[in-house]
Amino acid sequence: MSKASFSILGLLLCTFSISAQQISGFKKPQNQISLEKNFDSYLNAKRVGENIKLLSSVPHHVGSNGATKIVTEVERIFKENGWDTKIETYQVLFPTPVVRQLEMSGATNYKALLKEPALKEDATSNQADQLPTYNCWSADGDVTAELVFVNYGLPEDYEVLAKHGIDVKGKIVIAKYGRSWRGIKPKVAQEHGAVGCLIYSDPADDGYAAGDLYPLGAFKNEFGVQRGSIMDMVVYPGDPTTPFKGSKGNVDRIGHEVAENLLKIPVLPISYKDASPLLKDLSGPVAPRNWYGALPFTYHIGPSKSKVHLKLSFDWKLKPAQNVIATIRGSDFPDQWVIRGNHHDAWVNGANDPISGLAAELEEAIAIGQLVKNGWKPKRTLVYCAWDAEEPGLIGSTEWVEDHEAELRQKAVAYINSDGNGRGFLGAQGSHAFGPFMTEISKVVIDPQTNVSVFERAKASNAINASSVKAKQEALKQADFRLDAMGSGSDYSSFIQHIGIPSLNIGYGGEDDGGEYHSIYDSFDHYARFKDPGFAYGVSLAQTTGRAALRLAEADVLPFDFKALHQTVKGYTQELMDLIEQQREKVKVENDLIQTNAWALAADPSEKLQAPKTKKLVPYIDFSPMLNALSSLEIAAQFAANKSSTLSGTALTQWNQKLYQAEQQLLSIQGLPRRPWYKHTLYAPGFYTGYGVKTIPGVREAIEQQNYQEANEQIQIVAESIKRLSNYLNND
Ligand SMILES: [Zn+2]
Repeated sequence: MSKASFSILGLLLCTFSISAQQISGFKKPQNQISLEKNFDSYLNAKRVGENIKLLSSVPHHVGSNGATKIVTEVERIFKENGWDTKIETYQVLFPTPVVRQLEMSGATNYKALLKEPALKEDATSNQADQLPTYNCWSADGDVTAELVFVNYGLPEDYEVLAKHGIDVKGKIVIAKYGRSWRGIKPKVAQEHGAVGCLIYSDPADDGYAAGDLYPLGAFKNEFGVQRGSIMDMVVYPGDPTTPFKGSKGNVDRIGHEVAENLLKIPVLPISYKDASPLLKDLSGPVAPRNWYGALPFTYHIGPSKSKVHLKLSFDWKLKPAQNVIATIRGSDFPDQWVIRGNHHDAWVNGANDPISGLAAELEEAIAIGQLVKNGWKPKRTLVYCAWDAEEPGLIGSTEWVEDHEAELRQKAVAYINSDGNGRGFLGAQGSHAFGPFMTEISKVVIDPQTNVSVFERAKASNAINASSVKAKQEALKQADFRLDAMGSGSDYSSFIQHIGIPSLNIGYGGEDDGGEYHSIYDSFDHYARFKDPGFAYGVSLAQTTGRAALRLAEADVLPFDFKALHQTVKGYTQELMDLIEQQREKVKVENDLIQTNAWALAADPSEKLQAPKTKKLVPYIDFSPMLNALSSLEIAAQFAANKSSTLSGTALTQWNQKLYQAEQQLLSIQGLPRRPWYKHTLYAPGFYTGYGVKTIPGVREAIEQQNYQEANEQIQIVAESIKRLSNYLNND
């Protein structure tokens, strides 16, 4: 082969590789590829860092002076970059502490500090206006009682307590942070009759056993406290006094005392400095080995020798939640909205949570502003939002969605969310019709540390961290990016789970460990040293979420792939069928162990443990309605894919609207049992996991709670929703 022909071949290969980048939904992807290249060229890591510093410069919780300052800065940045910007304000309940008091007296006398000290290495840690350490939505209360240690405070921990014959009725419980969303711990404690709940960060999970302490390292020092909401968001999020309605004007409100998502007992988070003397005072049985943390004494279950006094009261006032809404009107389809959002409120300064994500969103807005300045216009309308009042319970976004529900159901193409962001691997959750869409994006964004695609890095990490050899082999073979299902814990909840807007939640992390979460040490100084030094992952996030927004704004055919959705739901259905089989085996074996006396013989007689009760046998359940519905969906998804590739003109415009409204078919009118606000039949936060997702929640949770009649009813409801989607896609 001559040199000349070799270089022609090289040229051909090169051209081939450029045009080979397929972008689903684009008839001619070249324009989009060059648009994204221009977009990337305007992104600037240094400016991401400057905006993180600016927007975390003061404490800015809901209703504070700092919040108004941050809102003004965010509004200015959007406006300076050509966005049509307004502030939509809701009046929302946001209780802050008036009295916080915790003492132990008796054999041990201790008054809790309840205070994180300022550090000279952390420039904003000494500021006035910091919210004190507390759990928002704790009830007012003044209780004195013995203390009981409940491990992580999950339902299974109470089964262990029952075996030891320990009851928490009338007691105050102390639970470790971790293994579940924090609000589950006081909820389960209240269900068991406890009169108060303390939650502390054990150094085993969040402190010296994890790494060097702040300010030397990133991890929680002995004074650090995780603030946070304990609203029972799995019932409904948003302002607890206005479920289903926007908190605007003279909206009817229910009293917070009767709100179904608020607890009735006082709850307080504390540091391990404050928890130590309390735990040390516990008597009673030695805690099971796997309940131990890393404090230097033997952990006992309790009750305590001394009494704990917990007194809390709150102001229960309405505060303004100020959402910043910035728009660039679409040139071709102004009534089709691509919505992007991240919250701006923080517990204190919030450099990581939420400002790192917000700075990336603003970086996208700045780059898009440049594109517009150079004559480009999005085909669909871009709506960029900065939400307030996320921290106390996704309030700003939920009130906005409830307020604009009818319009959003007509116009919202998708919602793209981010929140805290840091160094590491791409992670995403979302509607599974977006699976292939996310794969394509993840294969063109380049990881700033290794120069491979963020897809390759995420895949490698999944394979290394997979729990079994088989799972590792499967992860290595993965050709698609792993899009996880959505639980809760950030502002996408009302979009996807309440009104069925296709959604994505995107962020980087995994190499950004630390103990700063929801403390005064979530500061710019901490972030710049430990979370994303150089702010390169701020740019990676902007490239990823920005591409998602730009592709959805520009696509000829919107990139929804219902074949991918079908595959995923089929997988979930198989999981449910396996789950009930495992449960049947487990109940049978456990009952055998009790009835054959094996349980009693294996127990240490000196511990006087109480035998567990036998359980009801698990019946056989008929999944055929779901399986049949899935067969129709498979055919309908193929039909839709064929149709997407053939239409043009007005017919295509109408088809696009049909595609983005398809997810709404998966809502059920009645919602989930005991929580009708949650209407999506495929995704919801778990009733006992909080942030953690339960897929096909109606059926899965009924099985987990051994309510088999409800499981049968829910199978019908899910089957109907899948069937509804199939018919919808099949019909013209
Ligand atoms: Zn956040």
